[in-house]
Amino acid sequence: SAKELGLDFIRYTPAMKLRTQSKVELENDMRKGLDRGEFFLEFQPQVSLDSGNTVGMEALVRWNHPTRGLLSPGEFIPLAEESGLIVPLGEWVLRTACQHNKQWQDEGYEPICVSVNLSMRQFRQYNLADRVDMILKEVGLEACYLELEITETMTFDIDTAFEQLHSLKRLGLYISIDDFGTGYSSLYYLKTLPIDRLKIDRSFVKEVMLDGNDAAIVSTITTMAHHLKLKVTAEGVESKDQLEFLKLQNCHEGQGFLFSKPVPAGVFESQFLTRLVG
Ligand code: C2E
Ligand code: CA
Ligand code: CA
Ligand code: CA
Repeated sequence: SAKELGLDFIRYTPAMKLRTQSKVELENDMRKGLDRGEFFLEFQPQVSLDSGNTVGMEALVRWNHPTRGLLSPGEFIPLAEESGLIVPLGEWVLRTACQHNKQWQDEGYEPICVSVNLSMRQFRQYNLADRVDMILKEVGLEACYLELEITETMTFDIDTAFEQLHSLKRLGLYISIDDFGTGYSSLYYLKTLPIDRLKIDRSFVKEVMLDGNDAAIVSTITTMAHHLKLKVTAEGVESKDQLEFLKLQNCHEGQGFLFSKPVPAGVFESQFLTRLVG
């Protein structure tokens, strides 16, 4: 032991604690955090480039860790994936996003769709569609107000993806491909799978005004989406120039800091939802 080795004089400072915190500890923290209500959602508006109206929102998870402070998904989603905790966490996100959306509808706001990210582990659940159906019924949200975001990686095993996506589509919800253009899968899945929307990855949108190749890629994806009768959303829209370019391409929707960063539910409600009139 440390004592036998004469190391009992070592006092762990909070900074050392952080550095030495093991994956296992963080996993345990995550499990407890779920019970203790340390996770919450932020919402980012999805804006129609035609009207400028907020027509949807993406739910993004955050973790208020008791000692480490506010953690972004990049800091815990990979570990949640690895450990399998992403399944209960993802289900919490789905339920909570649907609850917020339902409550806003009940309060008399114009209904919009909420997008929720699905992880690979969730997508591989044999009973995913049943679980989603159960949550929608429990919350009382109509399926047409839910969109699930998957990534190209999840379409790699096309037969499994076909079954899974059709079971989900039968519920009446929407499916989008997130980070489109960054995966390795073939375009074959686009004509085979029941997909409603492509979300152009923000790495292409970022330099659309500076890099001719990025402009060509964004323009080509948008044109292809139109021909395939898919909706298309540009991610990571940060400038007016990018917005103008995307409008010229007839891109349907945009999401990005130009419109808003992801914000807590209360802020989203007051800034982006509109009351139904009459
Ligand atoms: P994503 O699904 O691509 O989500 C968009 C990310 O881009 C968000 O980061 C958002 O804050 C950021 N973003 C939005 N607009 C802009 C912009 O104009 N410029 C820049 N530079 N960034 C922008 P966030 O919230 O940190 O999430 C990162 C990733 O974590 C997400 O990427 C998603 O893959 C994952 N994630 C978030 N919430 C969940 C969840 O509930 N479940 C799962 N499985 N993954 C999640
Ligand atoms: Ca309210
Ligand atoms: Ca997403
Ligand atoms: Ca994305």
